[in-house]
Amino acid sequence: MSKAEVPRWPQRIHQATAGLLVLVALAVLWGWAADNVRLKSVVSGWPRMVVPTAVCFLLAGIALGLLPLVRESSSVRRRSISFWASQGLSLLVVVMGLSRLLSYALGRDSGIDHLFYMRFSAMAPATAINFILLGTASLLAGRRRGFQLFQVLTLLANLIAWLAFSRFLYGGAPLIPQDTLAVHTSLLFLVWSVALLCSWPEDGLMSLLVSDSAGGLIARKLLFPAMIVPISVGWLRLQGQRAGWYGTEAGLSLFALSNVVTFGILVWITAAALHRSDLSRRNGEWKLLEQLARLDLLRQITQAIGERQDMQSIFQVVLRSLEDDLPIDFGCIALYDRAGMVLTVSNVGVRQAVLADLRHTTIGIDENGFGRSLNGQLIYEPDLDRLTTPFPRQLVQGGLHSGVIVPLMVEDALFGILIAARREWEGFSSSDCEFLKHLGDLMALAAHQAQMYGSLQRAYDDLQSTRQTVMQQERLRAFGQMASGIAHDINNTISPAALYTESLLEMETGLSRQSRRTLQTIQRALNDVSNTLTRLTDLYRQREPQVVSAPIDLNQLVRQTIELTNARWSAMPQQHGIVIRMVTDLAHGIPLIRGLENEIREVLVNLIFNAVDAMPNGGTLTLRTGIAKTSSGKDEPAEMRGVYLEVIDTGVGMDEEARRRCMEPFFTTKGDRGTGLGLVMVQGVMERHSGELEIDSALAKGTTVRLTFTATEAAVSAPAPAAHAGPISKPVRILLVDDDPLLLKPLREVLELDGHDVVTANGGQSGIDAFHAALSQNKPFSIVFTDLGMPYVDGKKVALSIKEAAAATPVILLTGWGYRSGNEDETPANVDLVLSKPTRRGDLRSAVERFSSNTAS
Ligand code: ADP
Ligand code: MG
Repeated sequence: MSKAEVPRWPQRIHQATAGLLVLVALAVLWGWAADNVRLKSVVSGWPRMVVPTAVCFLLAGIALGLLPLVRESSSVRRRSISFWASQGLSLLVVVMGLSRLLSYALGRDSGIDHLFYMRFSAMAPATAINFILLGTASLLAGRRRGFQLFQVLTLLANLIAWLAFSRFLYGGAPLIPQDTLAVHTSLLFLVWSVALLCSWPEDGLMSLLVSDSAGGLIARKLLFPAMIVPISVGWLRLQGQRAGWYGTEAGLSLFALSNVVTFGILVWITAAALHRSDLSRRNGEWKLLEQLARLDLLRQITQAIGERQDMQSIFQVVLRSLEDDLPIDFGCIALYDRAGMVLTVSNVGVRQAVLADLRHTTIGIDENGFGRSLNGQLIYEPDLDRLTTPFPRQLVQGGLHSGVIVPLMVEDALFGILIAARREWEGFSSSDCEFLKHLGDLMALAAHQAQMYGSLQRAYDDLQSTRQTVMQQERLRAFGQMASGIAHDINNTISPAALYTESLLEMETGLSRQSRRTLQTIQRALNDVSNTLTRLTDLYRQREPQVVSAPIDLNQLVRQTIELTNARWSAMPQQHGIVIRMVTDLAHGIPLIRGLENEIREVLVNLIFNAVDAMPNGGTLTLRTGIAKTSSGKDEPAEMRGVYLEVIDTGVGMDEEARRRCMEPFFTTKGDRGTGLGLVMVQGVMERHSGELEIDSALAKGTTVRLTFTATEAAVSAPAPAAHAGPISKPVRILLVDDDPLLLKPLREVLELDGHDVVTANGGQSGIDAFHAALSQNKPFSIVFTDLGMPYVDGKKVALSIKEAAAATPVILLTGWGYRSGNEDETPANVDLVLSKPTRRGDLRSAVERFSSNTAS
């Protein structure tokens, strides 16, 4: 027991006794001085308290009064002064007692005690012994090592004093010879010994008496009656006997009876108190065990949660542990949808099979009285039967009668609830509720962490995919640049061949049929090469994003794209012996749509690639166009909604998850081969075109992707007129600039054959010089043809210089970089027309015809 917990009453007894000793001693001294018998002996005819005894009591009282100062004074100096003063006074008392005993032992006149007593009568030997005992006890008070001796001395003195005092109560000769003390002397010894015990309440007998344990309580209650009752009853018996009311035997029997009754009652009180304390101890123990079991359960659950990262399995493990170990008869978890203000049951325990189908049911938060959980309050319902709302009714039907609803909160917002129920009415104690509340907090924390882990993982995966995509794009870009360069070189190389073939076919009338057919085959082959190169550069060239939407013929776009992707669906699978059959089912006369042709082409390319990927063992790929009708009622005729384009494959199809997630960025089932961005792009393009995208897929059957576009009013445009040989215009003066003599020569010859006056320049700078020279000689050129790519001064610089000198002169750019002829959007500044290489004679003629008509030669 710590010092602070020691009650104050022992200290009060201690201080009161010190005062009493001093007071009585002074009174007796005054009695001697004034010769007052009452003060000297209290009861007449009884021994008096002699002067040395009174002096000893005075010293002892002061020493006793100093003891608390030794313990409690805040100043060290005061403490040591009080200590030494108290020790000195106690020692004096002991020495006085000893000297009296010594002189008693040596004979009356030895004279030793005259040293102290002078002319006063000497104290009784028993008094001297008690002063020695209690004085020594005072010297030992507070010293830990002397405690046993201290206690023995005090009790011994107490016993001697009591025996002397009992003579006063009961009369007779003293039990111990010479133990004849004055009444107040024996009483003062009694209280002094008790006060000394009270000065040291932390140890020994007193420690039990002051303790707040059941033992202390009983001791305090019973000690006083147990001492007083036999003393008083004995005294009464003696008085009755002396008055002659009964004889010795009857008196003894009465005394015994009253003692039996008294002690019977005391034992009964003790037993009852012990019984109560034992019950409460057992109760406490039981609660402790329960708490320990809960703690262990909480530890188990924490451990199990710690090993899991996803919410579903965390919830499941919590429910299982609760059902097995708390235990509860039913548990479930419902997640909260803030927008809809409803809870949806996500996990159900396994114990109550009848209630298993509660999964996925929704619980209205207000209609079921769960509103309080919104601010984090735990709800305990001891009697579910009295509730009439739907969810509690379901629980009652499942045989449950009491339940607890624990809110799961993250950052002060409810994200779900845990419901625990039992078959009994009032089935949950307050410690159950407390435990469930703690568990709820733990679950909320774990779920929050799982969420964070999930988003972190997703962010990491996204980052990883982005890196891959960027790398792939980088590879594609490099490949595209390489492809464009190669296309440019090939275009330049085949240009003379194309021109010569064309002019041979046109000019040489005397060719044999065989030669003409051979030349035509060569021409077709060159054309094919040129078309392939155009598609290649179309696919990879980085262009300015097209912003103006134009009418598009979907059927034509489909045909072009099939050609464009030919290698991917035909040649590449065939390398592995896989055959993909391409089927087109294009509706005639469908309206044009409005849009960005290159974007829609890209969409189609992606869908074709996806379809090919989905048919690793071959199959049929169908491209179908048609008119989309509104699905109308039976009576009204269906109205046209737009034009649709379907890409249908007979491939592996998608499972439920792929179907659900295929539009997510980076979702791919193709591992490193896929980017997961194809369908995202498709969706983006369809949104920009206000179109619709539908995906219909069945595992192992195939997939249909359907794009629906709004149609424009116009009907299908006529096919673009094929490049024609064109009429020969009237002769004009033409400047031809190209750094490649191999190309310059045939171009010049072809144009000269049409009768034009052609001047050639084999570089950008010499072209500009020739133009200026002609201007100054007043023989200006009507048209300038210039190559685009030339060292130092390129085609664009030539065009700029010419437009600066004579803005009206048309400049026609020849390029092997694969411009689509006639595409106005891609015409560079200062250039009137772009012709792509290999240049065909017809194109040259049309261009000359077009520009010579509006310029004077
Ligand atoms: P990627 O082709 O790079 O994987 P996509 O966005 O084009 O990315 O496609 C996403 C996913 O959708 C594919 O990985 C595939 O699982 C699924 N998918 C798309 N088209 C088809 C299809 N025609 N048949 C089966 N699954 C398809
Ligand atoms: Mg794809």
